[in-house]
Amino acid sequence: MANERILIVEDEKKIARFLQLELEHAGYSCVIDFTGASVIDHIGQGHFDLILLDVMLPGEDGLSICKRVREISNIPILMLSAKDDVDSKVAGLDHGADDYLTKPFSSKELLARIRALLRKRVGGDKLNESSYHVKDLYIFPDRHEVQVGTTIINLTKKEFELLTYLAQNKNTVLKREQILEDVWGYDYVGDTNIVDVYIRYLRSKVDEVVGKKYIHTVRGIGYVARD
Ligand code: CA
Repeated sequence: MANERILIVEDEKKIARFLQLELEHAGYSCVIDFTGASVIDHIGQGHFDLILLDVMLPGEDGLSICKRVREISNIPILMLSAKDDVDSKVAGLDHGADDYLTKPFSSKELLARIRALLRKRVGGDKLNESSYHVKDLYIFPDRHEVQVGTTIINLTKKEFELLTYLAQNKNTVLKREQILEDVWGYDYVGDTNIVDVYIRYLRSKVDEVVGKKYIHTVRGIGYVARD
């Protein structure tokens, strides 16, 4: 559990600090976003495991932020609100929140709900909601889809397999021979140039279209997808 990262989106400074203290005491790392303005950037970079999201915020409200997060990520979202009526809870869940907690709440209940959401996420990953990501690029093997923001990128089967493999091993430099063996298989007859060719295809369909660099060349060795 230690080191799981939680993004706290809460404009009331006292509550935000209280949450941070409680969560850090329980072993989580926290970052506070007092306005919600940088949630999408944070989530896009994939640095968090859960969001605590207040509904009433000074700018864009929590419901709208929640909906936008859902376009790019399955990250667990626990909504916090002073509104305890059924309609508010339904609205929160309908906008993509996983759970809803009414203020004031006990830190004991908050922590229990966070644990439950993180467990569910791990279980879900093992079943079939798995996705891999490199920065803000998400790969959904079940749907055979690659997504950056709201853009869906179409890849051929082999391109998709190669990108998934790079994402599964992100931040690890992979040798051409290793990529060839793991993506094309032992029985592939041919040389490692095929890897370079497919990396070029991927770059033209992903990096160049999105305008960001996901796949890096390590001279004399191979390739790495850097987060
Ligand atoms: Ca608030």
